Amino acid sequence: MKSHLLVSLAAIAICTVTARADTPVGVDLSAIDKSVVPGDDFYAYANGSWLKRTEIPADQSRWGSFNILNLEAQTRTRALIEDAAKTSAPGSEARKVGDFYAGFMDEAGIEAKGIAPLKDQLSAIAAIGDKKALALALGAALRADVDPLNNTNFQTENLFGIWVAPGFTDSEHYTPYLLQGGLGIPSRDYYLGDSAKMKAVQAAYKTYVAATLRLAGIADGDKKAAAIFDLETRIAKAQESIVDSQDVVKANNVWARGDFAGKAPGLDWEQFFRGAGLTQTGSFIVWQPSAFADLSKLVADTPLGTWKAWLAFHRINHFAPELPRAFVDARFDFYGKALSGTPKQQDRWKRAVNLTNDAMGDAVGKLYAAKYFPPASKAKAQEMVKNIIAAWGRRIDALTWMTPATKAKAKEKLFGLYVGIGYPEKWRDYSRLSVVKGDALGNQMRADLFEYHYSIDRIGKAVDRHEWSMTPQTVNAVNLPLQNALNFPAAILERPFFDAKAHDAFNYGAIGSVIGHEISHTFDDQGAAFDVKGRLHNWWTKEDFAHFKQSGQALVAQYNAYKLFPDLAVNGQQTLGENIADNAGLAAAYDAWHRSLGGKPAPGDQGLTGEQEFFLGFAQEWATKTREAAARQQVLVDVHAPGQFRARQVRNIDGWYPAFQVQPGQKLYLPPAERLHVW
Ligand SMILES: [Zn+2]
Repeated sequence: MKSHLLVSLAAIAICTVTARADTPVGVDLSAIDKSVVPGDDFYAYANGSWLKRTEIPADQSRWGSFNILNLEAQTRTRALIEDAAKTSAPGSEARKVGDFYAGFMDEAGIEAKGIAPLKDQLSAIAAIGDKKALALALGAALRADVDPLNNTNFQTENLFGIWVAPGFTDSEHYTPYLLQGGLGIPSRDYYLGDSAKMKAVQAAYKTYVAATLRLAGIADGDKKAAAIFDLETRIAKAQESIVDSQDVVKANNVWARGDFAGKAPGLDWEQFFRGAGLTQTGSFIVWQPSAFADLSKLVADTPLGTWKAWLAFHRINHFAPELPRAFVDARFDFYGKALSGTPKQQDRWKRAVNLTNDAMGDAVGKLYAAKYFPPASKAKAQEMVKNIIAAWGRRIDALTWMTPATKAKAKEKLFGLYVGIGYPEKWRDYSRLSVVKGDALGNQMRADLFEYHYSIDRIGKAVDRHEWSMTPQTVNAVNLPLQNALNFPAAILERPFFDAKAHDAFNYGAIGSVIGHEISHTFDDQGAAFDVKGRLHNWWTKEDFAHFKQSGQALVAQYNAYKLFPDLAVNGQQTLGENIADNAGLAAAYDAWHRSLGGKPAPGDQGLTGEQEFFLGFAQEWATKTREAAARQQVLVDVHAPGQFRARQVRNIDGWYPAFQVQPGQKLYLPPAERLHVW
């Protein structure tokens, strides 16, 4: 599925050029381009002036509301971490946070050590003598680095990835899910495409692999890079597509540990599970079974030397951020420049903040929430969530096509949602994570392992439905289908999404549509497959489900028609869950806002009517500029459509038409019968 709000913000950065112009409260009037007819291009009308005057900062691949707010969260977080380093007691959690950050910031220390911190690992790979030892090493490399449902991360450069979460059928207990992996470029499409643009990325990747091996003192870099690329091309062919991987019914394959040898012969699975420390685990859910069979066969069919080179490269690639500058720069030349079009690397402190957040997110988040999440924001957000859930319930009641039996189940699920706002009720315990002062690479390695053991140690244990999957300092929001829960982190409850001083019209259009979006994931094409307890269980009548599927297909067709470049259209199926969430979420936020007016007319502000504020609040949150390479990558790997197309959801809402005098003949105009309402 695809439950969160937006594309990953992994690469964020410097803000010298373009904060949005100062606005008092509510809609940013200076962003509007009055030369555009709203009915022709509402996104350009709402954001055109901002788009014209804004340059993407040199260290960014995209720039928009989310990025600007994320930079603010990073800046605050940096100060919190630096302060923690100075004032906290030795051995305390806050001191660990400070030491982790400081270790990464010590560039001179990292430079002086060279490749030495990785030497043991590379020697161990070089010493692998047969396929049995290879299987053990592949198992030992397994990490908890994928998440197909909550944060929609389908990629790992290890051969497989593990995700431990509530089970598909037993949502009361943590269950291990295994997913395909093995690629250094983050989508199989890059390996299989033969356009000039794809070929250029492939060539840049081979150059990078060779350069990295050379820097690490590994002989025959060019030859090995070619072999690694050939192997990864075969891995890409073995992998399932993102569209197939999003189908949770297809993903529900329970394999006993003893089944792997028969169902996916080639890899020595006994050794693999021994390396992974999973010999006590009875069964797994195998997300892409055909890929497991094919990847396992590849282990048998490909020479040992190629696998060893592949392992060595990916080990260095994974730890390159903690290695000397030559490795860091080579990595940026590929992932930053070639793949995303970003000219300049992020300042070191930003990378340090991101890595500290990844390693000890809750420890940092505890500091963040205490300082930056006022109770008034929580109260207002809670009230909006309550109103939007109520509006959703009324929308379900009003559906003409749905039978009473299905309606009752849908409402049971809706009113059973657990909603977390700001920060979690319980924080992660990091006492078992060892952070060593001045050991950046070792700290990263221990943090990866800490996360891995945290995950696998709880297999079979009781699920905590209130557990969060995002940190408070994350500018995003998420729906957790297996927990029937939502998280709205503190860092998104800020301008331009939310402003306690602004009109309700603005807040419902902006953060209200975000809240509606996350609630709607409960009922998107995948979310609808889970019941009130988070079980993969069909609660629909056959006719109702057929109708729901059919309205989804209309939305697929609407988005398939949107072209980012003449040669690249949005994938309506890949983005369907997100588009359903946008569609239904905006409609529910609009209803809830109207209801909150209690029959009185909406007050206006800044020369805008309340109706205009609502829709502009929505369209302005999607203002984004993206470099071409990054935009192309987004269409291939992301389950979210680009912001400019997300803003077009307004054309499916009747209220938008009178608010901006949208007329037949204008480009976004849809006759009433063609406006899509999935819910
Ligand atoms: Zn979403």
